[in-house]
Amino acid sequence: MAKPPPFAVLLRDLPAHRTFDMPGELVSEWLKGLPMRDALGAPEADPAAGVGHADLELYADGEHVFATGTFKGHLHVACSRCVTETKLVIDDRVQVTFLPKNEMPADDAEPGGEDGAEVNEDDLDLFAYEGEWVDLEPLFREEFVLAIPYAPLCREDCKGLCPQCGIDRNSATCTCEKPLDPRLAPLKGLKLPSA
Ligand SMILES: [Zn+2]
Ligand SMILES: [Zn+2]
Repeated sequence: MAKPPPFAVLLRDLPAHRTFDMPGELVSEWLKGLPMRDALGAPEADPAAGVGHADLELYADGEHVFATGTFKGHLHVACSRCVTETKLVIDDRVQVTFLPKNEMPADDAEPGGEDGAEVNEDDLDLFAYEGEWVDLEPLFREEFVLAIPYAPLCREDCKGLCPQCGIDRNSATCTCEKPLDPRLAPLKGLKLPSA
């Protein structure tokens, strides 16, 4: 028999209380390709990428599987202004449903679609599974991906890098002049008559 996925539970073992730990190597694999993660230039399978810990109650109603509990962890990404390594903390409540793949709502049933289909809140936390194993990996991966804001910051008032010399303005100053407003550039060579 094929080896079960690392974060899977057998449908027939439910209900069950399970905990799962995610090491940094895996977290870094999951986040590979995300710009604010790649910007760190971290090695492949980076053990310092972050960690995750899920503590879940799992139960089934027929083939519908429900998972409730907590997800805690952290991950490291680059600050979107100064590229410094920035720690993001995850402390989330989990309440999701796993459905057999063939019972998942069709992709074209967009929430809020023009057909006036009712948006079911629960649809937002639906995951699919196949066969006898309920694989929780998509849920855990999503916890990490959704924890990253559009533009993460090392601190609220990060001053970023100087666009000319690249110095980190949080820890140093430079003498670069503010670039000329490009809209004014054509005027630069103009000799204005002195009054
Ligand atoms: Zn920063
Ligand atoms: Zn500068």
